Amino acid sequence: MITLTKPARTPGDDEYRTFLGHTYACAACRAGAHCITAVRLGRVWREARR
Ligand SMILES: [Zn+2]
Repeated sequence: MITLTKPARTPGDDEYRTFLGHTYACAACRAGAHCITAVRLGRVWREARR
């Protein structure tokens, strides 16, 4: 049995950071262009929050 000593982190928090990090680093995202990677990361984030 796992003992929870740390406060539960927000579901999808790591995925959101990954998504946000990409939008800052990606030239297409910074230009507001359609980016398939951002779409994919956004989908992963949403699924992680469920
Ligand atoms: Zn991008």
